[in-house]
Amino acid sequence: MTVQEEILETIKAYETIIIHRHQRPDPDALGSQVGLAEIIRASFPEKTVYQVGGPVEGLDYLADMQTVADTDYQGALVIVTDTANAPRISDQRYDQGAKLIKIDHHPNDEPYGDLVWVNTKASSCSEMIASFWSTYQETLTMTKEAARLLYAGIVGDTGRFLYPATTATTLRLAAELLDRGFDAPKINRQIDQISRSVARLSGYVYEHIEVDESGAGKVILSQELQQSFGVVDSETSAIVSLPGKIEDVVAWAIFVEQPEGYYRVRMRSKGPVINEIAKRHHGGGHPLASGANAADLEEVAMIYQEIQEVIKQA
Ligand code: AMP
Repeated sequence: MTVQEEILETIKAYETIIIHRHQRPDPDALGSQVGLAEIIRASFPEKTVYQVGGPVEGLDYLADMQTVADTDYQGALVIVTDTANAPRISDQRYDQGAKLIKIDHHPNDEPYGDLVWVNTKASSCSEMIASFWSTYQETLTMTKEAARLLYAGIVGDTGRFLYPATTATTLRLAAELLDRGFDAPKINRQIDQISRSVARLSGYVYEHIEVDESGAGKVILSQELQQSFGVVDSETSAIVSLPGKIEDVVAWAIFVEQPEGYYRVRMRSKGPVINEIAKRHHGGGHPLASGANAADLEEVAMIYQEIQEVIKQA
């Protein structure tokens, strides 16, 4: 029995299913979580399915979360999507159910759960959920809303089919989702559009990015600067990919100072592997898209130096 078969059989066996995703959600976290919830609701109307994890931080055009009582976890199946490490799961009651399933496309550094389905070759966790549906189409129902959510997750994590993780399978599944007839141009626009404040911040990023001769890029966004542009941390997701458009930038990091004084580090690369750097600095992620934390400007400088080194080695 494949792990996908086991997951399907487990879903069939439980009356209550609670689906979690990671903190600071992005379109793939919400798309995979709520896309799966919608598929299960449509396929098994007698089951009670919840999607939990608190505020969706500006992504309310995608989905709303539900609240559940502690008692709802009794005898329930819990599924966590798009989350590599247990501490990053949004709503730490994820371990209060009768059985736990992890479905993810990040490196399996922490294989929590009774059943683990990890495919690091998938562009996104939403692609995995779409392929799960595609494999068991006779049992599972894809709705227009589920298709919209999964498509949003794929678009979000592939930079609208730009990043190397995009494969022929990604495009085939995206095409099957498009066949459901949701408004794709609308969801593309919603994911792509930025506020005036973020537009101004984008100008700052292009104007002030430091790029060395190896192609290592660095931008530091202090608290003072974020306040002067009127942006909050969650909005910086819209500017993380910008340095990649510059031809001589190979790998880069955006250091976002937090109110507590430490820096959230968002790293990206066009080739050299950067997630080992992230792991050394309280983070992790994909080989070409990772996140970490730096305690102070000294650790910021250290991380930048490590990026310069991996570029030189590559
Ligand atoms: P971000 O820059 O926040 O969009 O993160 C890029 C990738 O790195 C995502 O796939 C995250 O799962 C991963 N990531 C970000 N922050 C962390 C962290 N603190 N620990 C582990 N993985 C992380």
